[in-house]
Amino acid sequence: MIIVMKPEHTQEELQKVVRRLEDFGLRAHISQGEHRTIVGAIGDEQILREVPLESMPGVEKVMPILKPYKLVSREFKPDDTIIKVNGYSIGGKRIQIFAGPCAVESREMLEEVAKALRPLGVNFLRGGAFKPRTSPYSFQGLGKQALEYLARVREETGMLIVTELMDPRDTVLVCKYADIVQIGTRNMQNFKLLTEVGNIEKPVLLKRGMSATIKELLMSAEYIVSQGNEKVILCERGIRTFETETRNTLDLSAIPLLKQLTHLPVVVDPSHGVGRADLVPAMAKAAIVAGADGLMIEVHPRPEEALSDGPQSLRPEEFSKLMDELRRIAHIIDREI
Ligand code: PEP
Ligand code: MN
Repeated sequence: MIIVMKPEHTQEELQKVVRRLEDFGLRAHISQGEHRTIVGAIGDEQILREVPLESMPGVEKVMPILKPYKLVSREFKPDDTIIKVNGYSIGGKRIQIFAGPCAVESREMLEEVAKALRPLGVNFLRGGAFKPRTSPYSFQGLGKQALEYLARVREETGMLIVTELMDPRDTVLVCKYADIVQIGTRNMQNFKLLTEVGNIEKPVLLKRGMSATIKELLMSAEYIVSQGNEKVILCERGIRTFETETRNTLDLSAIPLLKQLTHLPVVVDPSHGVGRADLVPAMAKAAIVAGADGLMIEVHPRPEEALSDGPQSLRPEEFSKLMDELRRIAHIIDREI
């Protein structure tokens, strides 16, 4: 249930509403929008059925939210959420590009790719330090060493860092280096991990589980936001279907659908979405036309030598051409890159 306050409500009236909810064993979540203050009642709201909140001073209306996700729903917050990270915005007019190798393989390689990306206007460098690999015998990432390389490149280039957290025990370590903490597809429903990142200050890029519905993705986002971290970026990265020509099936319809259902920013990862470098540019372009707020794209200086996800990684030259095309499209759809 959400309680919409009158535009002219006082702080005292707001506090009274909060106390009333707490008296009934519920938690109040206050959302201070540009035009409206909205209070979300968290807990078993059946209790409130008999409580006439609507007649309390300062309250405009009380609305049940029928969806199972509440805080992340558009009903709760009609305005788009814009997440600010060190001066860059995610979710506004500008489409942000998160690019870089699948995994940090060495300091030299990371520097090489970052130096190719930075002049192209890429503000966020992605790169895995802890890699969730299907085989225990595959490259697992360089761990802390990779985080240190990322930090060094951040200092050298000013690019901000996006890297994956797989284990709640690494939260402090990863947060020390990451500007945005990524939760991968395999962990979208790792509820302990979601609760953990719900309690950090850093924004979280939450990837859709490869077999997760849109509703499940939003419920996972709700886990994080309900803990107090409202800085969640959703990421469509392809889902499993019967098709085998592509690694996954990139669900482009998820973009406009998510934009309807939630106020959170939506980013698309065409690299994991299709798993083939030759298809990545077309899917990246389609994603921004469909309304994506950002793109996550794997780029490797020599994909044939990559320790993970080489077949889906663009070479810097290919990526540069794509950036030109994306800029032209962004202009037509009244956005910026
Ligand atoms: C990645 O971004 O490198 C990654 C492992 O992504 P996903 O969790 O979507 O497979
Ligand atoms: Mn990858």
